[in-house]
Amino acid sequence: MNPIREECEALDQRDPLAFARARFTLPDGVIYLDGNSLGALPVATPARLQAAVTGEWGHGLIRSWNTAGWIDAPRRVGARIASLIGAAPDEVASTDSTSINLFKLASAAVRLRPGRRVILSEPGNFPTDLYMLQGLVDQLGGAVELKTFPREAIAGALDEDVAVLILTHVHYKSGEMFNMAGLTAKAHAVGALMIWDLSHSAGAIPVDLNDANVDFAVGCGYKYLNGGPGAPAFVFAAKRHHPEMRQPLSGWFGHAAPFDFVDQFAPAPGIDRMQCGTPSILALAALEAGLETFDGLSMSDLRAKSIRLSELFRSLVENRLHGQFSLGSPRDPGLRGSQISLIHPHGYEIMAALIEAGVIGDFRAPDHLRFGFTPLYLRYVDVFDAVQRLSDIMEDERWREPRFAVRSAVT
Ligand SMILES: *Cc1c(COP(=O)(O)O)cnc(C)c1O
Repeated sequence: MNPIREECEALDQRDPLAFARARFTLPDGVIYLDGNSLGALPVATPARLQAAVTGEWGHGLIRSWNTAGWIDAPRRVGARIASLIGAAPDEVASTDSTSINLFKLASAAVRLRPGRRVILSEPGNFPTDLYMLQGLVDQLGGAVELKTFPREAIAGALDEDVAVLILTHVHYKSGEMFNMAGLTAKAHAVGALMIWDLSHSAGAIPVDLNDANVDFAVGCGYKYLNGGPGAPAFVFAAKRHHPEMRQPLSGWFGHAAPFDFVDQFAPAPGIDRMQCGTPSILALAALEAGLETFDGLSMSDLRAKSIRLSELFRSLVENRLHGQFSLGSPRDPGLRGSQISLIHPHGYEIMAALIEAGVIGDFRAPDHLRFGFTPLYLRYVDVFDAVQRLSDIMEDERWREPRFAVRSAVT
């Protein structure tokens, strides 16, 4: 028996969060280090979906919009998410995708700052964020432009021409985390608005949007929130903006009285105006079950375990794989989210071989092997075994087999 592995087992036995693993269905023999990309399946989800399909849809039929609370689902699920991100229950709605919500919010923000010409972000932000902003700039016909500055230069690029600063709180590739309150205050100091993308933060680290005085935020439902593939995303708008904010996708679910069926759009009074069309009820049911995996747990306890897991991983990699990988994430755990990236020129092949060996992480081009540490269902011993399998692959050079170089559509 390896003494370090025994220490990991002891850590698991003392772990006050160990019970939460039973809230998930995980395949035997698999160590799942990709909850940052697709959260694992909660035990409760299949029955919840079954009930929604056969009971609410099959039996209740159209009546379920009223009797099963379908009509309130975006708000109800939004309120659940609000409790994880430091927002008031009526400041969050679960709707659409992160991409679409970002478009709606960026558009609303630009409109709230007439005469300002710049949307500011960082190069290397998650691609869809930049793509959606490029689409908005195009749509606005030259009234605004998108400018990107490297993260260390962003604060210096803020001036009175900036309508809105849009950043991803935890970087998808490096896991590097921005100072939310600090940058929000700097944006406000020049009169700009602040939008945070919380895709890699919500459910992973403590976030307090209202404490940081954030204007708007978006995030994913299928990553740390465990809502299932393609789960609805969420949108946050601080209450002070509700009366004035307007978004361009003014569908009937954002109307003040959708069932009056009038010709003229009139926005709903609160966060509901960020909705567009009919919500995906089955997907919201799965997301609701995903959020219940956080019941009774505090984000600060989860964060503490996430740091211990990722620090264990980092130290094991550094000790056992001396210099074969470079660290693609901040060394200081206080500066990163719940993930660690390792850099290797053959990252794709190594990750493919590792997945075959039962350790699922992912790869982000050109050279990042990404490992997510989800404190809800990961054990310390999983981290030990994952590094063990990684060192085996590096030692026997299995990853050099040509089949591991064949690229899949999704990495
Ligand atoms: C995962 C992720 C998205 C995904 O957007 P979708 O619209 O759900 O495809 C957006 N932004 C960031 C930062 C992400 O990490």
